[in-house]
Amino acid sequence: MSIAILPLIVSAVVSYFVLNHGVIDSFQDVLMRERTQIAPTQRLRLDIANSLVPVDEFIEDGDPVHQRAYREARTRIETEFGALGEAVKDEPAAYALVQRARDEWTTADRQATELISVQQRRGDPAAIAAMQRFHGEIAAATDKLAAVHNHLDGEVQADHDVAVLFYERAIWTTSVAGIFSLLAIVGGVFLIGRIMVASVDRLVDGAVRFADGDRGHRIDVQIPPELHRVAEEFNHMIGRINESEEVLAELARRDSLTGLANRRAFDESLSEAWARVERFREQVSLLAIDIDHFKEINDTYGHSAGDAVLRAIAHTMTGQLRLSDKLFRSGGEEFSAILPGTNSEEGRETAERIRKAIAACPIQLDGTDVTVTVSVGIASAQGFSDPGEMVEAADAALYDAKLHGRDRVVVDGDGRRKNRTAA
Ligand code: GH3
Ligand code: MG
Ligand code: MG
Repeated sequence: MSIAILPLIVSAVVSYFVLNHGVIDSFQDVLMRERTQIAPTQRLRLDIANSLVPVDEFIEDGDPVHQRAYREARTRIETEFGALGEAVKDEPAAYALVQRARDEWTTADRQATELISVQQRRGDPAAIAAMQRFHGEIAAATDKLAAVHNHLDGEVQADHDVAVLFYERAIWTTSVAGIFSLLAIVGGVFLIGRIMVASVDRLVDGAVRFADGDRGHRIDVQIPPELHRVAEEFNHMIGRINESEEVLAELARRDSLTGLANRRAFDESLSEAWARVERFREQVSLLAIDIDHFKEINDTYGHSAGDAVLRAIAHTMTGQLRLSDKLFRSGGEEFSAILPGTNSEEGRETAERIRKAIAACPIQLDGTDVTVTVSVGIASAQGFSDPGEMVEAADAALYDAKLHGRDRVVVDGDGRRKNRTAA
């Protein structure tokens, strides 16, 4: 929005300054000089010219009223000279002319004062000569003031021309600024429209991709700020949904009683392990572990004691495995372990370790130490064409272990099962 409004503000400010300082100031200057310099010069000129009249009339009829009229005119003229001198004091040429006019007037005034001091005789040649000199001085003074007037008038004319020039420039400047603002507003509105459409498109595209299952996509909208906030909220929402889904997925793959991974996770991990077997010829062993006579524990000590046994055994088994091994509660009182990079012989050793550790750790139930044992069947990847066969072989080996007395490990190998009794 500021893109559109800024040129308007700039053009308004520029126009204000051009008009105020250029045009209005110049015209005010012209008016001021008219009022304080030119008009007073003309008035003074007229008053000096008119000062002849009472002198002439006094000489004509000797009436003292003309003496008074002259003195009044004289006082007015003196005052006007003072004011005019003050008005043009900053302009040396005009000031010098005013001073010269004042000198001429002073001389004329002296002669006038002499002429009206006494009644002159009619036709007195001396009085006529003095009268002519007086007229000459008055003419000289008014001529100087005419020169002052011409000088000031020239300057005022120049000022006026400058003011007109500023005025024309102001018209141009404001017109150009106005057109520029208009173009900027149109461009700004167009730009804002494009940005809005692009931003909304990105929002819609993001929503569609999310609906299509693209959970990693994030919407990138920076402007306008309102849509940026919508995009941010949307991204947060996607993040929260992803987190919730991850938590749910994790819960769906975990057994809540023992905290171990469950049957679903076992199936996934076995597929992955099998893929590595096929691709890298990696060895892997599978342990099928079942608690012996678990039903009796439930029957004797109760179901929650049975749960405690399940937790304790899960804990003990976890402690016997490597970090790369994976343990699962595959159902009821049955567990499975996937041992990557492990052949059947190494698998047997691990299974024995587990079996012995469990047998060696009696579990306290109702104040009684109860020894719990497990039977383990083992199968290794070699010789099977799919993971299902390996699971079946491990289960069969476990079945053999049960069949041959429990608390033992049986390894399935080379198509025949070997019984390994408890050490
Ligand atoms: P075997 O030595 O042949 O394996 O005998 P068993 O008693 O262990 O096997 P059976 O299949 O007869 O009994 C398993 C029992 O495990 C039955 C079932 O009630 C119990 N069970 C299964 N899941 C749970 C559980 O989550 N908690 C408890 N407390 N018991 C469970
Ligand atoms: Mg059992
Ligand atoms: Mg069982």
